Amino acid sequence: MTNQTVIAGGTAVTEDGIFPADVVIEGERIVALTTPGAGPPDAARIDATDYLVLPGGIDVHTHFEEPDPELLEGFTTGGMAAAAGGITTVVEMPQAHPTTTTADLLRDKIALVERNAVIDMALYGGVIGEPSQDSAELERMAAAGAAAFKSFMASSSPFFPAVDHAQLFQAMRTIAPLGLPYALHAEDGALLADGLRRIQAAGRVDPMAHAESRPPLVETVAVGVALALAEQTGCHVHLCHVASADALRLIRDAKARGVHATAETCPQYLLLNTDDLCRLKGFARCAPAVREQAEVDRIWPYVLDGTIDLLSSDHSPYPIERKQVGDGDIFQAPLGLSGVQTLLPACFDAAVHQRGMEPERFVRLVAANPARIFGLYPRKGTIRPGSDADLVLFDPWQRWTIRDEDAHHRQKWTPYAGKEITGRVRRTIRRGQTIFEAAPDGPGRVTAQPGSGRFLPGAYGAPKA
Ligand SMILES: [Zn+2]
Repeated sequence: MTNQTVIAGGTAVTEDGIFPADVVIEGERIVALTTPGAGPPDAARIDATDYLVLPGGIDVHTHFEEPDPELLEGFTTGGMAAAAGGITTVVEMPQAHPTTTTADLLRDKIALVERNAVIDMALYGGVIGEPSQDSAELERMAAAGAAAFKSFMASSSPFFPAVDHAQLFQAMRTIAPLGLPYALHAEDGALLADGLRRIQAAGRVDPMAHAESRPPLVETVAVGVALALAEQTGCHVHLCHVASADALRLIRDAKARGVHATAETCPQYLLLNTDDLCRLKGFARCAPAVREQAEVDRIWPYVLDGTIDLLSSDHSPYPIERKQVGDGDIFQAPLGLSGVQTLLPACFDAAVHQRGMEPERFVRLVAANPARIFGLYPRKGTIRPGSDADLVLFDPWQRWTIRDEDAHHRQKWTPYAGKEITGRVRRTIRRGQTIFEAAPDGPGRVTAQPGSGRFLPGAYGAPKA
């Protein structure tokens, strides 16, 4: 008798190719890929006929926000939504109460992961710059297991002060030798403040006032600064949620020169546009703002040509009542959208079905590249012997409609409600255990228990193999 399980009859997709294979798992790991039917005969079987077998998705930009006295999301419900969307690992942002800016606070958060998580989680450390934060604290956070660092280049919240150019330069010099990515919310603080001041002075509170107050140029300028400092310091800079085609051109050119830069974008900059902002009002308010369709059309080629390394959700939970306030004054709606549950299927539809991207390229964007960039590869992000058995059984042809009531996250709304897409997660397996199974209709069932998710240390703090 064996304690192995075979995921049988499916089509495996890795960054290197797409091929019929049975995936043999034992305990928490993948132990073999075999030709169909050649697996151990006495193993348990999970039928994957007609399904793609993808590596578990990795979303490197979530705000599940623990600790948070209001509990707008939390690691349990956030992870349940992730599992239902084929995401088995997230890298959680440092925004919380308090913001994660010290090694002690990071250790407190690791304890919360171990208590509440249902999927595997890595964590960012927050960088607020000297003199508020001793630069030695960054190394302490790396040693405590942070997978990456994060700063804002424009003021976002009083709890997470932005860094100015000098602080950014200093932080990059500190982070470069640590070998961890430094993720940036790249909007220029001065241009953004001026844009907001002008629009609000004109009395504008309509949805477009939000978009017009922070046009793509606000991002392009900040990305230019970040790339120049990264080139000077050798720091690995990771540009979050890029939604400016001109910024992407700068990133592409910088990469070609050898600057250590990586970039992500989010579904809200690929699937939504300013018509959706006018329709959804506060429910489409995020930063950067969703773009005109002409800008969206200029961003897509950078997804297809690999300038954009990965897709993330920037999942940010806000209650319906607080988003509704944007109906009267767009600026009163908090910034952020639900998205972790829809990231993988909605982007598969948009990239693979609608734009002809090969499934193996898509897997690079949602699994292999995020794993590599955040120091989790090859434990995560691929299907190979020795890797964690994080797998998604995905029906690429099932047509379905995204609905608010199917959300597993705490705030039951999605900006994609009513959207019909092709391709659905049927089953999610995390370290060998089925944690989500789809139902023929309705939200499906998440079976992972709080505390079954695991903390994943970053490349600096991880024990060396
Ligand atoms: Zn964010």
